[in-house]
Amino acid sequence: MQTSFQNDCSYEEYHSNKLWRQASLKKCPVHSDGQCRLERHGIYERYDPDGRNKTRIARFICRRDEGAVTNSLLPQFFAARHPGTLQEFEGQVAAAEKLGAGKATEQLRSSQSNG
Ligand SMILES: [Zn+2]
Repeated sequence: MQTSFQNDCSYEEYHSNKLWRQASLKKCPVHSDGQCRLERHGIYERYDPDGRNKTRIARFICRRDEGAVTNSLLPQFFAARHPGTLQEFEGQVAAAEKLGAGKATEQLRSSQSNG
C-alpha cells in the first residue's frame, strides 16, 4: 500500500535533506478508528526521476490484525505505482488524451514493440 507523503519538496530537496527520515504516518490508512499501533518498518530504494541514482522511501507497518499491513510514504513528485515523476506521467496522459484512445493505443503498441 502507498500513501502520499504530503510535502511540496522537490526531488533534490527530498534526497539531499534525507526527508524519508522525517516522514511520519499519523493515521493508519487501513483502519480509520485510530486504534492502530504504527511502527517504522525500514526503507526501500527507488530510482530517482532521471533513473540514475536511488533515493529512499520510508515504510510503516500496522500490526493490528494477524496479517500486518505495510505502507510506504511516497513523496508527491513520484507517481504512485509508476516509474518516473508525477509530472512526466501527467504529460503522457495529456498527450494520450489529445491523440484520442485509438491513436494513443497504436502509438503505445509501436513504442513497446520497438523496445
Ligand atoms: Zn491499522
